[in-house]
Amino acid sequence: MSSTMRQAVTAERRRVEVGMTPVPSAPGPGEALLAIASVGVCGSDLAMWEGTDPYTRYPVRQGHEASARVLQLGPGGDGRVREGDLVAVEPLLPDGTCVACRRGRPNCCVGLRVIGAHVDGALAEQLVMPVANLYPVPDLDAELAAFVEPVSIGLQMVTRSRIGAGDRAVVLGAGPIGQAIQLAAIDRGARILAVDRVPGRLERALARGAEVAVDARDGKVAEAVEAWTEGDGPEVVFEATGVTAVIRQAIELVAHAGTVVIAGTPTDDVALPALTIVRKELDILGSRNNTGLYPAAIDLVRRERDRCRSLITHRFPLAETQAAMTFAAANPAEANKVMITVAP
Ligand SMILES: [Zn+2]
Repeated sequence: MSSTMRQAVTAERRRVEVGMTPVPSAPGPGEALLAIASVGVCGSDLAMWEGTDPYTRYPVRQGHEASARVLQLGPGGDGRVREGDLVAVEPLLPDGTCVACRRGRPNCCVGLRVIGAHVDGALAEQLVMPVANLYPVPDLDAELAAFVEPVSIGLQMVTRSRIGAGDRAVVLGAGPIGQAIQLAAIDRGARILAVDRVPGRLERALARGAEVAVDARDGKVAEAVEAWTEGDGPEVVFEATGVTAVIRQAIELVAHAGTVVIAGTPTDDVALPALTIVRKELDILGSRNNTGLYPAAIDLVRRERDRCRSLITHRFPLAETQAAMTFAAANPAEANKVMITVAP
């Protein structure tokens, strides 16, 4: 076995260096050594690469939407995961002891570490992860297995919203996360109006079941939402842009007794219309990562595999990670999910 492996490290703003590094040491108890297969490029990856993400630090080895083959298991283990398995990798490393973890919500752990942000990510040939983070997916391919992670983000938002069949939802932002929200919300029987500023994304939303798609550049979002809901406003608004003005817009658009779920990561504060929040008696919820929804996300990808596959638009090898980031950042209309192939 070779003692070095290839990895892609974001060395500084907008610059990925691909080079060699020692392979990880052997997996300890409860751990597995993985051969990474596919890694999705997330909007947060692009923000980190561009230096605008709130968690940015350099150098950083990115990659948190990953699938892998299990190369070697550490001592112990319960037989759930076996060597050779194709697995979807959950990227969260909670501390297990903080107030959120004790309440069963490790996704918002006080000391949360996420691979590819706080610790080395999956843009490497090998990685050691806790076996608890691995979900065997023998009936999926490597790209769909990696796609489970963004679907889990949408599923967490939809679960937080408690949306039901027939409810109307406005999805602000029709990029990859907006698409995952739409997928999960339609799966629950909800109806969708999608908003974005990129026409290609709006076409994609319509092709995948949104009833209406509104170009925010026309400045007529409120009118379109009002017409679509016959004056009610939508029961739920999902915010997936991270743009502060859009968060405020979500509160203004939502129906009385409605719910706003925010998943964007704005770095500045928003002035909120407090009176509107009270008058409408709104539930305004943050949403981050996922809690216990990986099996449900896998199930959703399994059932909607063709739709999920159609959202994967571009592929680059690990050696061309810089080109992948540059392309995805420059072509938001064309590039929905860009995948990096580590091991074909
Ligand atoms: Zn914790």
